[in-house]
Amino acid sequence: MKKREMYDCLVVGCGMAGTVIASELAERAGKKVLVLEMRDHIGGNAYDHLSESGILVHQFGPHIFHTDNKRVFDYLSRFTQWRNYSHEVVGDINGKLIPIPFNLNSLHLAFESSKATRIEQKLIAIYGLASKVPILDLRRQPDTDLADLADFIYNNIFLYYTQKQWGLAPDEIDALVTARVPVVISYDNRYFQDTYQGIPAQSYTSLFEYMLNHPNIELRLNSDARRMLRLESGKVFFDGSPFNGTVIYSGPTDELFDCRYGRLPYRTLDFVFETYDITWYQSRGTVNYPVDQEYTRITEFKHLTGQALDGRTTIVKEYPRAYTGADNETPYYPIQNPENTTLYERYRKLTDEFPQVHLLGRLAEYKYYNMDAIVKKALELADTLMK
Ligand code: FAD
Ligand code: UDP
Repeated sequence: MKKREMYDCLVVGCGMAGTVIASELAERAGKKVLVLEMRDHIGGNAYDHLSESGILVHQFGPHIFHTDNKRVFDYLSRFTQWRNYSHEVVGDINGKLIPIPFNLNSLHLAFESSKATRIEQKLIAIYGLASKVPILDLRRQPDTDLADLADFIYNNIFLYYTQKQWGLAPDEIDALVTARVPVVISYDNRYFQDTYQGIPAQSYTSLFEYMLNHPNIELRLNSDARRMLRLESGKVFFDGSPFNGTVIYSGPTDELFDCRYGRLPYRTLDFVFETYDITWYQSRGTVNYPVDQEYTRITEFKHLTGQALDGRTTIVKEYPRAYTGADNETPYYPIQNPENTTLYERYRKLTDEFPQVHLLGRLAEYKYYNMDAIVKKALELADTLMK
């Protein structure tokens, strides 16, 4: 029997999407699964590893797991224990550190006492305690105190950060992007308010290893599917021969069709890692730089991972820029707007001709997904495929 006939399913990409679906198909459905990953490691953008300095770093920027979905949390908890970690972020505004998301603690640091108290009362009266208000909504408030507050937050937290991150002003991008970090009417300084949050106790990479550790799963690293997979006249070809099994694709959908309508736009990041011979570099896991610097944020990994190590620490700075499609670049952030969504839809429609092919994940679905959303989609796709 030829080798490709041994596989029931082909999974492209070994990030969260590819790994969860491979694991589910192998374990729950007993399918033989081949996973192709173009990089030399598993985990996609959630990959972490011990650096040369002996510090556990997230290679592609800080990853904090958070979800309100019990099924997602319970599923991952079969493969990992959790370090109980609540992420806190402060913004460096001209040297003053204030909590982000902007909350009632931030309010009292940013405004003089009597005005802060007045604004707090108005916020609670209008929105209610513990509510979350997207900055673009707050900007529509007619009240002069709240208009002052909205101007402060917009100009000091969102404007320059968003210009750096997206090359666009906050009102030029999908409102859902800035709504990810709403104004929070409470004294809760956590970045996420989800029920479940934490970091895999060992590492993300160990979590992926456990998920992939199944006799029905074969993993091939350094294997770019673009060189092996061809979609033509309703048929899928793998290694030059027809493949009749299920294909789950978690790479960029435009690349599946040689970018024939032009590239889908993305933002990418340059990560600059720095190691210092000190125990701590900063007071929180992440410090955002919303009014100055070319990088958006600095993350110090030991806060996230809990690694106990005196006299040494590593940070990463994130420098955003446009993705050009060069080989050494990674498309991190889909730029969701009506024009790009239309372009994506043209590519997605091409897959209608190939019912055995399923698009899954942040790249393949061109959606600004967090990890938990992808686990949820992967579990649901597995449910559908097993019907
Ligand atoms: P990816 O992780 O991108 O995996 C796709 C994989 O497919 C990659 O390994 C890629 O190499 C491979 N691939 C692509 N094309 C091919 C091909 N042709 N052949 C073979 N392999 C291919 N989410 C959170 O929940 N919490 C966070 O704190 C968080 N922080 C983030 C910080 C940053 C800087 C970024 C960029 C993202 C963050 N995310 C976070 C989002 C998280 O990274 C994604 O939700 C998740 O990694 C997406 O998983 P995925 O499998 O869809 O995609
Ligand atoms: N944002 C901002 N200032 C901040 C934090 C976030 O302007 O201090 C905006 C910015 O547009 C960013 C978006 O909110 O891209 C979402 O932020 P999040 O922290 O969720 O981004 P991610 O972690 O996905 O990079």
